[in-house]
Amino acid sequence: TKFSDLALDPRVLKAVQEAGYETPTPIQAQAIPHALEGKDVLGIAQTGTGKTASFTLPMITILGKGRARARMPRSLVLCPTRELAAQVAENFDIYAKHSKLSKALLIGGVSFTEQDKLIDRGVDVLIATPGRLLDHFERGKLLLTGVQIMVVDEADRMLDMGFIPDIERIFSLTPFTRQTLFYSATMAPEIERITNTFLTGAVKIEV
Ligand code: AMP
Repeated sequence: TKFSDLALDPRVLKAVQEAGYETPTPIQAQAIPHALEGKDVLGIAQTGTGKTASFTLPMITILGKGRARARMPRSLVLCPTRELAAQVAENFDIYAKHSKLSKALLIGGVSFTEQDKLIDRGVDVLIATPGRLLDHFERGKLLLTGVQIMVVDEADRMLDMGFIPDIERIFSLTPFTRQTLFYSATMAPEIERITNTFLTGAVKIEV
């Protein structure tokens, strides 16, 4: 498979070429076509496999033109730690450099004021840790009813850190018609339960 076989937005393809990627990794080659068809994806993949691009590239393609409304993000990426969220945001900037999409990073340890301003302006892609996301929600600053695509990254680490109740809460605040791309390195029983509850007809990909 070549990136140009994957039906990605031309602007995304250009960014991928400029990043120096020659061929999609196995998780990318397998997940991207299903994600682009609107299917839920359950990716069993470790870090280092290229999983970030496997959800970011189709997400950017599906979102198309930026047109977010105030306080209603169009997509959501949940990460277990600040560091991982920041890394996903960096990757997003590389892949979305020719796409006119807005982004906000909501992580703890940063003042709410700047994050509030971004949310008020409207964001296409919200990248967040679960605790900070729910803090914004409880403060009445954020609505998740416009979320079209939701990504859960490193669910097994979310489980280790006790975030599963937060994840369930966040799922329940988004429309049930959303598309879900869910990634975990392992399938613990608790992870299995969550995916059975919140994913619909998911394509399971193991690399
Ligand atoms: P990840 O597993 O998402 O953390 O990605 C691991 C590393 O692989 C990152 O530094 C990416 O920039 C890089 N990467 C992702 N996809 C590709 C690809 N198709 N070709 C070359 N490098 C890639």
